Amino acid sequence: MELVNCARCGKVFARVGKNICPDCLAEEEETFKKVREFIEENPGLTVHEVAEKCAVAPKKIYGFLKEGRLQRQKFNASETKWRCESCGAYITSGRLCQNCQKILKDEMLAHENEKLKPDARKKTIEKGKIHLSRLQDR
Ligand SMILES: [Zn+2]
Ligand SMILES: [Zn+2]
Repeated sequence: MELVNCARCGKVFARVGKNICPDCLAEEEETFKKVREFIEENPGLTVHEVAEKCAVAPKKIYGFLKEGRLQRQKFNASETKWRCESCGAYITSGRLCQNCQKILKDEMLAHENEKLKPDARKKTIEKGKIHLSRLQDR
């Protein structure tokens, strides 16, 4: 069991996966439900209008949008975009733009390849050589 401080209220709690405590999690769920119900009944508003009407921080609503829990189609399109966390380009889904997603993926692949390739092979060849020379010494 891992004891951590809640990222929201600072209370110490036993983590089960999320970094916020069960109390805050329940509150988050309430907030989410409130916003979702409101936008179902009043589609076409901007994020800031919804935030104001629901007494929720716009950041929260953007968070739900990024996670894909709220449909951006329900909102006024002028505000349902945000910036890529890496390069700052405007995006409408997730946390990174497609470019940065691709770069990230390529970097990860490159890392994988480095681990597998040529060094590891070279070492086995060298080992083989040492083996041979020892044999010749005898
Ligand atoms: Zn908390
Ligand atoms: Zn980007």
